[in-house]
Amino acid sequence: MENPNPPPKPIREKTHPPLMVNPQKRIPLLRTATHHPYPEPTLPIKQSKTHPTTTTPNTVPPKNEKEESQEASVFFIGTATTLLTYGHIRLLTDPNLLHAGDHVHLGPGVTATRLTNPAVPDLASLPPVDCVLLSHYHEDHFDREVEARLSRDVPIITTPHAKGCLTREEGKEGGAFRRVWGVREFEGVVLLSSPPPPPGVEGADTQDGKKKERVEAVRVTGMPGKHVPPGPLGMVNELLGAVPPTNGWLVELGWCCGVGDDLAGEEFETGYRIYISGDTLFVDELREIPRRLQGDKIDLMLVHLGGTTIPGPRMPLLMVTMDAKQGVQLMRLVDPDVTVPIHFDDYDVFCSPLDDFKKEVVAGGFGDRVVYLDRGEEYRFAVPRGS
Ligand SMILES: [Zn+2]
Repeated sequence: MENPNPPPKPIREKTHPPLMVNPQKRIPLLRTATHHPYPEPTLPIKQSKTHPTTTTPNTVPPKNEKEESQEASVFFIGTATTLLTYGHIRLLTDPNLLHAGDHVHLGPGVTATRLTNPAVPDLASLPPVDCVLLSHYHEDHFDREVEARLSRDVPIITTPHAKGCLTREEGKEGGAFRRVWGVREFEGVVLLSSPPPPPGVEGADTQDGKKKERVEAVRVTGMPGKHVPPGPLGMVNELLGAVPPTNGWLVELGWCCGVGDDLAGEEFETGYRIYISGDTLFVDELREIPRRLQGDKIDLMLVHLGGTTIPGPRMPLLMVTMDAKQGVQLMRLVDPDVTVPIHFDDYDVFCSPLDDFKKEVVAGGFGDRVVYLDRGEEYRFAVPRGS
């Protein structure tokens, strides 16, 4: 007889080979660039925020505080595009740098118009990154211009479906992408910053006298997401292929210890957990996340809101991302320390405005646990270093 209450499955059922990144030798973001831009473009940061919504000057903390923790930040560019910086590692999420008035094609007969400008005008204005995290292959998350101009050698972690699209040669100006990880839900990849460790990261001696190195690392694990509600519409969508499968992400910031080539990620030490919802509705599959985390706390949630409705606001047939109510429902389920809403007003198909979410947050008693970022603002936090 089947156990009605089986124990939770692990948060990671499989770990892919690690992705070695070298923040000292990043490749240019642009496909046509021949060398690393020098000086690197700097982010146009309008304001830095910390929890809970207090504003601090954008300065580096004093050295003694730095030794106990590592600095990190999320810079909000627009839509679901953010630049996540952790120590020396930089990740870019869902790059869309289109401007107000530009159109995206989201499936058969579905187009949307951008209403806002991104905080960074184009790829050339972004500093180089170690990896792109792409939740799904949709133009409002990976626009056609980005697809044409992005270097084919920038590592991309995404869904198996998007990997299939990105690594196809045909119809792609610039050809196929060469370094793509296709990650299913509950599968992980560790990004290791290449040894030697950056200055300030101490090594520890092992018994045989070899230096055990401790390097900054990021572990990315695919989380479930459902862009289309289950039922007949979901079946129609599967036939039409209108809305691609999507991932959420668990992004753990931490350290790996090992000797030489053995930095394989088994000894990952988590310092801080970020959950990025991806374009999902509030579906039962999401309940697996806290269940599998088994008490491990989410420090920060980036929630994709907007109540995206297709074909469009004049014919609201099908909602494919969370609205304000579902966003607060997800806060209740995942219980993050801090939530930052993204993906809420950039397109005319986003029908649930941020003000609705603000009202729901207050009504739900979560007022002190949300940090609101405008495009061009960043959220700064510290990643505590374990003993
Ligand atoms: Zn979207």
